[in-house]
Amino acid sequence: MTTPHEGISLARLLREAGLRATRPRRVLAELLFAKGNRHVTAEMLYEETMAAQAHVSLATVYNTLNQLTEAGLLRQVGIDGSKSFFDTNMGEHHHYFLQDKDAILDIPADAAVPLELPPPPEGFEIARVDVVVRLRPR
Ligand SMILES: [Zn+2]
Repeated sequence: MTTPHEGISLARLLREAGLRATRPRRVLAELLFAKGNRHVTAEMLYEETMAAQAHVSLATVYNTLNQLTEAGLLRQVGIDGSKSFFDTNMGEHHHYFLQDKDAILDIPADAAVPLELPPPPEGFEIARVDVVVRLRPR
C-alpha cells in the first residue's frame, strides 16, 4: 500500500517518522493515508477500525494520532477547545466548519482571501495561522 507521501510504503512512512511499524499503527496509517487527504476525529477513526474489524483500542487510536501529529505527519485542528480533527493535508490552508454536521472541509486555496495580521509582539514570530469559518445551512 502506498501513500500520498511520494508513494512510499506506510511501514516506511512510520519508520521515517521514528515510529515502529506495529500492527495497530499500520492499520491506522492505512485508514488515514491510503485514500487521499482526510479530516478525522479519534472517534471517527476508532469507528472505522471497528468496521474493518481491526481491533484497535480507542486509547491506541488517541495515542497514535498524537504520535503522528508530533512526528509531523498530521496536523491537529481544534474546534471549540474540545473537539479535535486530525488533518492529513500538511499544506498551508484554512477550514470551513459545518456546524450541523460536525465536520470540517478545506477552504480551497483560490477561495481564500489574504489576511491582514497584527505584527507579533517583540520576541515572537507567527508560527501558523488557523482560520475556521463556521457554516450553517441557510
Ligand atoms: Zn484541512
